[in-house]
Amino acid sequence: MAVVKADGYGHGALPCTRAVLAAGADCLGVGIVAEGVELRENGVQAPIQVLTGHFPNEIDDLIQHELTATVWNSSMAKDLANRAAECDRQVGVHVKVDTGMGRLGGTSDNLPALMEFIHHSKNLRAEGVFTHFSTADEEDSEFTTLQLERFQATLNKINQGEIPAPPAHCANSSALLRYPESHFSMVRPGLILYGALTSKNLEPALDKLLGSTAEKKLRPVMAWKTQILQINKISKGSPLSYGKKFITRRDSTIATLPVGYADGLNRALSGKMSVLIHGQRVSQVGTICMDLCMVDVTDLPQVRAGDEVVILGRQGSEAIAVEEMADHARTIPYEILCCVGKRVPRIYIP
Ligand SMILES: *Cc1c(COP(=O)(O)O)cnc(C)c1O
Repeated sequence: MAVVKADGYGHGALPCTRAVLAAGADCLGVGIVAEGVELRENGVQAPIQVLTGHFPNEIDDLIQHELTATVWNSSMAKDLANRAAECDRQVGVHVKVDTGMGRLGGTSDNLPALMEFIHHSKNLRAEGVFTHFSTADEEDSEFTTLQLERFQATLNKINQGEIPAPPAHCANSSALLRYPESHFSMVRPGLILYGALTSKNLEPALDKLLGSTAEKKLRPVMAWKTQILQINKISKGSPLSYGKKFITRRDSTIATLPVGYADGLNRALSGKMSVLIHGQRVSQVGTICMDLCMVDVTDLPQVRAGDEVVILGRQGSEAIAVEEMADHARTIPYEILCCVGKRVPRIYIP
């Protein structure tokens, strides 16, 4: 299963969906019903599971668009079965088990009854049972091992009943890389499909899987580029941007870029991030505004308005990785990628 939720982690759900299906994915994972509907309305026919469940008022959309449901208790299953019966349809369902994330899912106590209900409902089709890890990216494997044991115990419990357990799945990107014993019938990577790593802890596992030759590295799918909008000569001791947080320490050349927090350039990056211009790193200075930010190009005398600026990606021999930007913003690559603003045009290069 290729996870394409949150608009394909900010890359654009539809083009990413087409790419992963062409590359061999069997099915897709989305976050909410509306994301599944959007894919269907654009002609996607592969199975699409709504990983995070649904509200009762979304059941008609689920059924009408043949999306695969996630359920974790009997009342969800009953509502779904009743409506599917009224429409004379059958809905594929996956049962979510909470093994320690404390977020979504049933407990192993209520699952055998739920599985039984689904099995005996002719309007539901049990297609999977799954769980989600909370710490598969962390160095310490203790809790992931515990979650895996709980998941396995749940599967055993279901298997002891009359009804066979449906295919099991639990591996996100990190578990796919680090815990081969978590692969079961299917894996559900998201982030690594987009060429980013959850954490440095996964580098050894990735190297082991791919070999450490340069051409086999994960390649970031997204590059984020802009251009210099204006160049200003600003004398030493002058404040820049909102709140006068930055004062020039020398006579400076400052380039203004048409990118701000409304484009996903988190304000927490103010004064911490760099961009690439003419293949060189230059510092961002002053508070990042809604639509604009400034960079110090004093050491690059050749710069002109219109020159290319790389926010994420490669320019010459330098590169800025999403992992680096996430560190500066004290967040994770996921958030940086899926917060790139909708007004930033996505351009797809096959
Ligand atoms: C988002 C998500 C994934 C993918 O996680 P990554 O860490 O991006 O690989 C897998 N399963 C579920 C249930 C998810 O919500």
